[in-house]
Amino acid sequence: MKSTAGNERFKALLVEREDEHTSVHIRHLTEQQLPEGDVLVGVSHSSLNYKDGLAVTGRGKIVARYPHVPGVDFAGTVLDSASDRFTPGEEVLLTGWGVGERHWGGFSQRARVKSDWLVPMPAGLDSKQAMTIGSAGLTAMLCVMTLEDAGIKPGSGPVVVTGAAGGVGSVAVMLLSELGYEVAAVTGRASTHGFLRELGATQLLSREEMSLPPRPLESQRWAGAIDVVGGVMLARVLAETKYGGAVAATGLAGDATLTTSVMPFILRNVSLRGVESVTPPRSLREVAWSRLSATLPQTGYRRISRIISLEEVEAASRSILAGEIRGRVLVDPNL
Ligand code: NDP
Repeated sequence: MKSTAGNERFKALLVEREDEHTSVHIRHLTEQQLPEGDVLVGVSHSSLNYKDGLAVTGRGKIVARYPHVPGVDFAGTVLDSASDRFTPGEEVLLTGWGVGERHWGGFSQRARVKSDWLVPMPAGLDSKQAMTIGSAGLTAMLCVMTLEDAGIKPGSGPVVVTGAAGGVGSVAVMLLSELGYEVAAVTGRASTHGFLRELGATQLLSREEMSLPPRPLESQRWAGAIDVVGGVMLARVLAETKYGGAVAATGLAGDATLTTSVMPFILRNVSLRGVESVTPPRSLREVAWSRLSATLPQTGYRRISRIISLEEVEAASRSILAGEIRGRVLVDPNL
């Protein structure tokens, strides 16, 4: 693709690796250094997701090749396009597709990507709002849609969200509450109780009590659940899910393993549904984005987000892996 945007240098966060040692640098790059793709985007905002924490700190084998620009999502303006679907000046967003993992991502003032991965900015959203939602928020919406698909309605009973004060969790709490569900939030941080109540949680549960190994069946509490934690907490949620209920499992912030029994499935008709947000078809993404735009209240964006510069990403990455981030962290590469 020929670029009309010139050869001026732009800022990017580059993760480099030598002898198993990972280091993070702010470098000035040229467009020639960007990977192949048919659309060049001027990035307005990206956001920090759990995977970015892994990529920046060199953990979890997230990055395919070094040097690498992380950032699994971004929003911005098309600067140059060889695709019929996009023209310069158009606002776009991207989440998933291995961007920030196998392909250079959004922690940069410029990104070159495949047009198939881009979504036109949904009506009613700007780039800051889109990245307040980001990969985490899209995942939360896909979890809500999965519960709806399983027949869980606002009148069905309470829905529990684990890891509630984190990125996926906080958007999930807000979405469920806006849609009329009764929301129970599980958090390891009592300091976030006020925040979670503001987002719409009416019941607050401690991580400690939800991490107790369950019996095969516990008292029936939840019509549905959105779980980002995995491990014993997911096993407990399954054992506490009501007859006919559904659990959307999407994360492993606590543990990637799951030891459970078949009892919730064979005696209570509970279903366990997996949710991934990296490669869902474009049509599903567009529905999810338009529902996010229509459902989230204007006040919610400010409530759950803060903005950092590229220089602050390394420290914030350590915080997200330590489970210390509240809500969503936006990255503005132009600060
Ligand atoms: P965050 O770090 O923002 O949130 C995770 C939350 O989980 C923390 O805030 C904390 O919430 C809780 N938590 C952290 N560590 C533990 C622990 N050891 N035990 C119990 N709870 C813990 O991350 P995200 O919300 O961005 O992502 C959450 C998970 O979802 C990650 O595993 C991520 O990889 C996954 N994910 C999966 C996607 C997919 O496509 N399948 C897409 C996006 C995310 P609190 O303080 O409230 O307890």
